[in-house]
Amino acid sequence: MSAEQNSQKVLIVGAGPVGQMAALLLAHHGIHSCLIDKRSETSTAPRAHAINARTLEICDSIGISAQRLRELGASADEAGHVRFVGTITGAEFGALPYERQDEGAFAFTPFPLSNVSQPIFERELQTHVRNSELIEFRRGVECTSLVDRGNAVDATLKTAESGEIQTASFSYVIASDGANSKLRGLLGIEMEGPDALANYLMIHFQSDLRAVTAGKRGLLYFLFEPGVSGALIAYDQAKTWVLMHDWNPELENREDYTDEKCLGLIEQAVGQPLPETTIENISPWVMTAQVAKAYRKGRIFLAGDAAHRIPPAGGLGLNTGVGDVQNLTWKLAAVMKGAAGDGLLDSYEIERQPIARVNNEQSLNNAMKLFDLIVAVHGLDPEKTAERYASVAESPEAFPELAEAVAAQKPHFDSFDLQIGYRYNSEAIVDPAPIPEVLDVSDYQPSWDAGAHFPHRWVTHDGVVQPLQSLLSPSTFTLVHGPDSGVLAGHTQINQLTFGVDFKDEDSWQKQTGLPDNGAVLIRPDGHIAARFDQVDEDRFMTAVKQILARG
Ligand SMILES: Cc1cc2nc3c(=O)[nH]c(=O)nc-3n(C[C@H](O)[C@H](O)[C@H](O)COP(=O)(O)OP(=O)(O)OC[C@H]3O[C@@H](n4cnc5c(N)ncnc54)[C@H](O)[C@@H]3O)c2cc1C
Repeated sequence: MSAEQNSQKVLIVGAGPVGQMAALLLAHHGIHSCLIDKRSETSTAPRAHAINARTLEICDSIGISAQRLRELGASADEAGHVRFVGTITGAEFGALPYERQDEGAFAFTPFPLSNVSQPIFERELQTHVRNSELIEFRRGVECTSLVDRGNAVDATLKTAESGEIQTASFSYVIASDGANSKLRGLLGIEMEGPDALANYLMIHFQSDLRAVTAGKRGLLYFLFEPGVSGALIAYDQAKTWVLMHDWNPELENREDYTDEKCLGLIEQAVGQPLPETTIENISPWVMTAQVAKAYRKGRIFLAGDAAHRIPPAGGLGLNTGVGDVQNLTWKLAAVMKGAAGDGLLDSYEIERQPIARVNNEQSLNNAMKLFDLIVAVHGLDPEKTAERYASVAESPEAFPELAEAVAAQKPHFDSFDLQIGYRYNSEAIVDPAPIPEVLDVSDYQPSWDAGAHFPHRWVTHDGVVQPLQSLLSPSTFTLVHGPDSGVLAGHTQINQLTFGVDFKDEDSWQKQTGLPDNGAVLIRPDGHIAARFDQVDEDRFMTAVKQILARG
């Protein structure tokens, strides 16, 4: 690998979901990348399950079929609820729908959230990665150091099998090397926010628990029987489960958690003898809630868990990471192709860091809010926990505070607005609308404001009803004209659509966008509204583009 060969290539360190998506998005923009991972194979740890609407939309926009991903996931019948129980077979204190998997969600997205376990999602991405001619994919290769020379980055790459060490030069580097990012450390970028909030053992096991859960299917079971702790995650009721077990590494030894002991814990959580069950993996995991102080250092960018360590209470970690690289890759492509100035790359941190902060804060609140339920079930007097639990388990309906505490968990399991309603405010948006305070994370309001993501609409094109997003391009800007706005001549590199001509919508242009019929909306490749025009002409358009792309 010579320095010249890589001069127009991006190095992506870490082929987790975020690194793989970065490579696929760059390839979609026609940019070569070298994607490396120190692991020789994809991780089998189930970890993420909630692949949200925005992530599915991003996948679909670059040819990774969201429909197929949804089919690979657990159905809403299986994974549509969260249950608060003593044990799976014991008392039930309440249940909530799990995220927007209902029919109503199709009004806001063509692809509502689906529960796809992370290894399945990663394997699907890997198939696309391996099929891309623009991605050089190398497993068993670790990046051990980076030197930013100002016009390129020299990376030291170590191949595990041979021990060979190479130095190669790249235009830019995306560090998607996970929560304990070595590259973040090498760059001296600090994290902000609480570290080591709670310790869990993730006990991954295989068991067919369908007979046990009949009548109370769900994705998550939070366990409250005294002596039983944590939560069960049903990635696939027929085989793939994880018990998140609280433990204290200062008082306990990991070695004491033998397969036999873990089987006992699972049996307690289920509340009856287990069908054939095998332990796949037991790994300690520390919950943190941190965001990196900087996302960029010169030509190196942090993305995904390397940039934010979001508590899993909310299912936002992986999804936030996918949003990061969707935001970063079109900008990198525009700069590498000479269409944009370097300043555009600064907007990556400005736009994405606040999203991570909000998601982090909400996820932390969700985790904390679960303590209200513990209090409602166990009471406040530790001496009387067993007594209180027995009464609550016998007749939960006699304890109104329990129903209230269950209802108060809703934001944890329905954060639709955080998932698809996030907005940007930077120089890469012309006159961005002020970002409204999020008062209710479940309440998503579609908006055509500058900075918002264009709203999903079912429109008619060539006589076929389809999502508006299928007419937009993820690799170029789209100018959507009102019905009386003329198309700009000579701009073949952008996608131009006229409302009422190229597609029909049952609501009027003015009602939706608030713009006159000769107005227009400019949409960035990542779907965010870059500019709104009361009327559009060459000068206004070029002034806006110059600002957005940091040219001049
Ligand atoms: C129990 C649990 C449930 C979760 N549920 C959800 C959920 O429902 N939804 C959601 O959105 N998120 C969820 N998450 C979070 C999600 O798992 C992470 O956010 C996601 O894995 C982050 O992806 P990543 O690609 O940034 O990092 P990772 O998946 O950690 O990948 C990093 C990769 O970098 C490689 N690497 C590291 N260092 C180097 C190096 N120096 N050189 C080369 N390669 C390197 C590693 O081998 C690894 O493959 C959950 C997490 C847990 C623990």
